[in-house]
Order: sequence, then structure tokens, then C-alpha cells
Amino acid sequence: MRKPFVAGNWKMNKTAAEARELVSQLLGPLMDIRGVEKVLCPPFTSLFAVASMLNDSGIGLGAQDMHWEEKGAFTGEISPGMVKELCNYVILGHSERRTYFGETDSMVNKKLQTALKHDLTPIVCVGETLDEYESGRTSEVVLRQINLGLADVAPASASRIVVAYEPVWAIGTGKASSGENANAVHGQVIRPALSRLFGEENAQAIRILYGGSVTAANASEFFQQPEIDGALVGGASLKAEEFAAIVRAAGR
Ligand code: PEP
Repeated sequence: MRKPFVAGNWKMNKTAAEARELVSQLLGPLMDIRGVEKVLCPPFTSLFAVASMLNDSGIGLGAQDMHWEEKGAFTGEISPGMVKELCNYVILGHSERRTYFGETDSMVNKKLQTALKHDLTPIVCVGETLDEYESGRTSEVVLRQINLGLADVAPASASRIVVAYEPVWAIGTGKASSGENANAVHGQVIRPALSRLFGEENAQAIRILYGGSVTAANASEFFQQPEIDGALVGGASLKAEEFAAIVRAAGR
């Protein structure tokens, strides 16, 4: 049995003061929900403030990215050790990083290796663009991202990875994939690829999330699918009641 997993990616939203306000609204409702691994991923500048509020809450804290080097002349970057001081999770290879900041599969792989070394739970994002979707290249693109992004990971560490399938055309557009379509990509493309990389038993233990315009209204459509183990939520994670309703749906 894979434990359901829901993470909120706040992207570049919320000052530290606003983050504190949102967490104060989320704490009670989220703490009441059992049986779901819950993670908040605010911007770097709010991690410290949020970390001090999440003590003993059972709610995890994640960064939205990090560099793969331990330290050095990388102006503007955050190291794995800095992330690990406050977080147990890190989002890697989000499509916005790939699209706007030139992140490649090889960079994602270096970050993944470092995250595992630092005992961070990596949430590795994959997904095809609208153009790739419309030209029937979903499997090809997702397979490349999985095979290169998750290369050279010891099978024994693989179950610690969380994969998020996020079709780029569904992110922030209000046009979510159907549950059936996402389930097919998870079950027919991603899990078989994980099985080839890490063996069937390890692949079965890896959580595969869906992400892309998940809301309280459509969350159950995804969570009732056998191959969908949770969600990576963007816009809807900025609204306390909406996000709590999504997490609740994952626990049902
Ligand atoms: C995301 O940022 O990972 C995401 C899925 O965004 P949204 O839920 O807003 O589509």
C-alpha cells in the first residue's frame, strides 16, 4: 500500500508574513487529516517562518528547487545542506524551471542524486507540453525525462523518490487532464519505466502524483484512480479551505 501524498507548491507567492497567515489557517484542518503525507512548499524566503510553525504538526516542509553543489560561487542559488536545515522534501525539475530557467534532465539528475545523499525526499516532476501532447509524443517525452532524470539511482534508494506527472498543458490553465488519461500515463508509461530502472518491487513502492489544475472539485476523480497516489497542487494550495479539501479527498 502506497501512502497518499499531497504537496502544495506555492510557487513565487506569499511573503513571509502572508505565509504565516496561510499556515495559521491550514494547521488545524490539515492536522485533523490522518493517513495522508502532507507537504507545504513555500518560497525559500518563507521556509524559516513556516518551519517554526510546523513543529510536531505532522506536516512536512519542502523547497521548490535547490542546486546540486554543496557550496561555492553560485550567486542566487540554495545548497542541499541549506535546504536540509529546514526541509525534508524538495521539488525537482518542475516544468516552470525547465521552461523558464533552462533546467535539463541531466541537471535534474544531479539534483536528485544530491537530494538522496542529503536524505531529502525528492518530488521529481515530469510531463509533456501541449505541442508534444497534441503530436502524440507523451510517452516518448515522459520516458526520456524518467530515464535520464532518474538515472544511476541505487534501486534501494528508489522508493524514497516521489514522481509527479504534470502535463504542462494542465498546469495553471484550469484545464486538468482527465483522471483516466493521467492514470494511463502513470500505469502504462511511468511505473513500467520505474520497474525497468529499479525492479518491480521498488517501482511498486514509488508514489506517482498527478499535478495540473487540481481543485477541491476534481480531486476525487484523480484519487479514485488506482495508479494515482496523490497530487502536486499549485494554485489551489494557496487557499486554505480548498487545499484542506484536496488533502481530505486523498485520505478517503
Ligand atoms: C504546479 O505548480 O505544480 C501545479 C500543478 O500548478 P496548478 O495546480 O496551479 O496547475
